[in-house]
Amino acid sequence: MLQQEKIALIVVDVQNGFMPNGNLAVAHADRILPNVNQLMHHFNNVVLTQDWHPEHHISFANNHTNKQPFDMINLPYGQQVLWTSHCVQGTKDADFHPDLDVSQAQLIIRKGFHAHIDSYSAFVEADRTTKTGLAGYLNERQIDTVYVVGVATDFCVAWTAIDAVNLGFKTYVIEDATAGIDLNGSLVQKWQEMQALKIGRIQTQDVLKLL
Ligand SMILES: [Zn+2]
Repeated sequence: MLQQEKIALIVVDVQNGFMPNGNLAVAHADRILPNVNQLMHHFNNVVLTQDWHPEHHISFANNHTNKQPFDMINLPYGQQVLWTSHCVQGTKDADFHPDLDVSQAQLIIRKGFHAHIDSYSAFVEADRTTKTGLAGYLNERQIDTVYVVGVATDFCVAWTAIDAVNLGFKTYVIEDATAGIDLNGSLVQKWQEMQALKIGRIQTQDVLKLL
């Protein structure tokens, strides 16, 4: 059995904006809700992340001239994919999906609220230096293992898991509680990257058996 006080579930961006009919819809993302809800009820430590952008955010294609969603641009911190405007602070698009049972969550990390920096990871923003404080929170509570679920597998979930393992946490991604975007093969590429870092690729039932 797993020691509840040592483990945390990180639920990444289960928000209207990434669900079917959202501003940056991820195909079938709502199908993960039953697994995510079930997992949340079996963890004592649950952290939610919430993409939370100002209207003028640098990652929105409509804030750049002659750019389309999914174009790449160069920023001081490196390459950035441009997205449709999504998860703007205080809008319905930024709300958690109404069927997500948020009652078990102890902490909500809001990310992407600096206008000039995107943030896929729940730990470190895309400039790779601005920290969210999540590592400190987990360390202070002696949590050494994290399980990551949510959307999108190949962006915010993968970046969160990769940062977690690099920060010294034992890290798992629960595949059937995630949904991917798959931009030019990014889904396969991110799974390869995660597996090379020894991030566990597991399924909801495998985790529930241990809790
Ligand atoms: Zn975003």
